[in-house]
Amino acid sequence: MAKSSRVKRRAKVRSPRRNRGPVLWYVLTALVVVVGVIAIVAFRDDAQAEAPRANRDHWHAAFGVNVCGTWLPNAPEFHSAADNANVTAGVHSHGDGLIHIHPYVSAEAGDNATVGRFLEYGGWSADRDSFEVWDGQVHRTGDECGEGDDAREAVVRWEVNGEPHEGDISDYKPADGDVIALALLPEDEEIGEPPSAGNTPVDLAPQPGVTAPAESAPAPTASSVPDASASTSSTAPAGTSTSTP
Ligand SMILES: [Zn+2]
Ligand SMILES: [Zn+2]
Repeated sequence: MAKSSRVKRRAKVRSPRRNRGPVLWYVLTALVVVVGVIAIVAFRDDAQAEAPRANRDHWHAAFGVNVCGTWLPNAPEFHSAADNANVTAGVHSHGDGLIHIHPYVSAEAGDNATVGRFLEYGGWSADRDSFEVWDGQVHRTGDECGEGDDAREAVVRWEVNGEPHEGDISDYKPADGDVIALALLPEDEEIGEPPSAGNTPVDLAPQPGVTAPAESAPAPTASSVPDASASTSSTAPAGTSTSTP
């Protein structure tokens, strides 16, 4: 009896001493893991929730509107809200067929940088079964395309990068480089690719580089001898014009 109780007492005394090290180690490890997970989740949430970030990101998405097989001209240029000229629109149009997204305030940044924001600033609107844009007409599901015997019932549809999407296009938040097509077309007709797909944004750096050779090319021809020397006029422009593209 005495021996067994002594053994028990020893065991009781020993166990906490032995465990103190590992317990501390487990706690520290768990702490590192928890802090790490929180940091990763917070960072990811931050990146997803805020992009495109106000005064930092500058995105572009091609946007075309197809009415009964005809693409409307590019959205007209605008830089302020249609209903309030004092509101600078960070989601706007340079008339190049692209939605320019470089938000200035949170109301047009992140999840607020939607197609609907663009349309609203431009003075237009769209929902799941109708839209009214810069042709000034309301197009609705149930409208007809074609005339007389060729008339067919059309529906409001939209695609992103060639993929059909459901729901309200106004809620869609474009990603940088998206190609977005809104259409009123019969169900079985292909929307196709908007003409502005692949356009270079007019407000990006490459633009001056593209126009510079075009401006310098005519200069030598104009300044060179009018018509006497056929050799210089034929050789000089040929070299400059073919090398530029
Ligand atoms: Zn831009
Ligand atoms: Zn711009």
